Amino acid sequence: MLITSLVSFFAPANCLVCGREGSLLCPGCPLPEPRYGRCLFCHGSAEAIACPDCLLANQLASVAVAARYAGPAEELVAKLKYHGDRSAAHLMAARMLPLLPPDGVLVPIPATLEHIRQRGFDQAQLIARHLSRRSGLPVSPVLARAGKHHQKGSDKATRHAAMSDALSATRPIYGSVILIDDVLTTGATMSAAAQLLIQAGAESVCGIAFSQA
Ligand SMILES: [Zn+2]
Ligand SMILES: [Zn+2]
Repeated sequence: MLITSLVSFFAPANCLVCGREGSLLCPGCPLPEPRYGRCLFCHGSAEAIACPDCLLANQLASVAVAARYAGPAEELVAKLKYHGDRSAAHLMAARMLPLLPPDGVLVPIPATLEHIRQRGFDQAQLIARHLSRRSGLPVSPVLARAGKHHQKGSDKATRHAAMSDALSATRPIYGSVILIDDVLTTGATMSAAAQLLIQAGAESVCGIAFSQA
């Protein structure tokens, strides 16, 4: 065990996407740039990920992503989620680090209980812990999932309701909160989480995801 970890410590890293030796992500596998110009929530024009009106309506101070969920970014998420490759979380956190505000508490958006059982870990919490180590900001996993919620096939409104039900804040939280997630899709989960955290006492909530689908 010790020898294996020593070997992996000294051995050069391999690109998580194509396997080329040298680093966790080689220059030949660049992450696709985030897609700006269209609001995540209303699909109207926006300078950033979401327009100011929708941010306000969803109780989010800002939303930022490190990459578009495609190509190498999609591969990294798959490596982490479906192949249990935790070094992908390390790399994802490194790319999210420049997006972090100087202050705040990192709150990972928990995966469903079913997924945590299947994978043996919660990917957003793993990313948040890496971010915490590198930024010095604390992690506070105040959000929890109430139970199983099947979202496939349901429309956006139902999905939103189901997720508001499923997520809960387990204790009060104060100050600025930075929500952490791996993939941002409709923004419904992040919006539900922001509302819960404001209700739980947070002064402001911003969201940072590794990628946007
Ligand atoms: Zn590569
Ligand atoms: Zn909008």
